[in-house]
Amino acid sequence: MLERHRIAERWRSERWDGLRFQFPNWSVRLPDFAFPHDDPEGFATTGEILTFIEAYAAFVDPPIRCGVAVTRLHRDGNGFIAETANGAIAANNVVVATGPYQRPLMPDLLRDEARLFQVHASHYSNPQQLPDGAVLVVGAGASGAQIADELSRAGRRVFLAVSEHTRMPRRYRGHDLTWWFEKLHLFDMLPEQRTSRVNPSITGAYGGRTIDFRDFADEGITLLGRVTAAREGVLEIAGGLADSLAQGDAAHAFLLDMMDEYAEKKNLGLPDDPPARAKRPDPPCVTAPIRSLDLRAENINAVIWATGYGLDFGWIDVPVFDAGAPPCIVAASARYPGSTSLACNGFPG
Ligand SMILES: Cc1cc2nc3c(=O)[nH]c(=O)nc-3n(C[C@H](O)[C@H](O)[C@H](O)COP(=O)(O)OP(=O)(O)OC[C@H]3O[C@@H](n4cnc5c(N)ncnc54)[C@H](O)[C@@H]3O)c2cc1C
Repeated sequence: MLERHRIAERWRSERWDGLRFQFPNWSVRLPDFAFPHDDPEGFATTGEILTFIEAYAAFVDPPIRCGVAVTRLHRDGNGFIAETANGAIAANNVVVATGPYQRPLMPDLLRDEARLFQVHASHYSNPQQLPDGAVLVVGAGASGAQIADELSRAGRRVFLAVSEHTRMPRRYRGHDLTWWFEKLHLFDMLPEQRTSRVNPSITGAYGGRTIDFRDFADEGITLLGRVTAAREGVLEIAGGLADSLAQGDAAHAFLLDMMDEYAEKKNLGLPDDPPARAKRPDPPCVTAPIRSLDLRAENINAVIWATGYGLDFGWIDVPVFDAGAPPCIVAASARYPGSTSLACNGFPG
């Protein structure tokens, strides 16, 4: 078992300080290994998840070699050769478990703006890391939404560029989203069964709440549409922000309908939850959206790119990729002995 850095490296160096696990403590578990907590409905810190994974590694005690990166994987007869800086390793079977969040995607729209502090969400740490002034957060998936919220609570003026997103209820009819996902078997869906590649906007920060970007606007965050271009420090913003919010609402309502249907079918007798379906009016930044944003005029000195991740399987020199797979998925299995099969995990759509 090879790890190029340290056990649970992503949780050490690619998560911000204030991140909270997106699923409640009661649901965090590994095979035969419980997550220690004193609040079942609470959300763990990054440090707690790191400690948990380290403890699990000690419990399983696999023959792990840290600090060994596989730089190339290729076939050798019926087996494989993994090349590393420490020499080559022959294997009959290979499991690639390098995760779905391999390469930060960061548009270079603002490459000429040397005065700006720019960081991808995977290297954002905390509000103190940023220079004074307003902040632009681009992307409103789970990372962008949490980071924008954190910065706003820290007293920063925040602009948040929102595009297509899937809004999910944190709790509904007395149960956390995770409980519902288990009941509805949504965690069991295979990647290829998923209809949406859009990451959900969901948070466990500050006790967890359902994300409605209209609340963010009420709290002082300026919502923007998708950032499409930049010229001399002025951003072009696409229209369609109201539509994005409406699509987020539709996804949210769809999920509530599924939950209701399940509750009725199983006769669960759960309490009704009308506030979960309450419709909120769009705030002024949505009804009269900003289409052009002058970063200097708005005193924006930092940009956080919460624009997601890409795959990086360039080191795998074996014909196991399915050319027709959507960008987020590599689900391939060669039919010869010692086959490699890869899958990308993520959320059900
Ligand atoms: C910002 C953020 C927040 C998240 N929050 C949550 C959450 O709250 N709850 C949740 O369940 N999930 C969350 N996730 C998803 C979760 O982190 C991943 O699903 C999980 O880490 C996947 O685990 P993994 O072991 O498959 O891959 P990873 O954790 O990505 O581990 C892959 C390992 O492979 C190593 N590696 C890569 N390439 C090589 C190579 N060539 N040679 C040797 N080693 C290599 C890497 O160093 C890494 O340690 C979050 C993801 C992100 C980006």
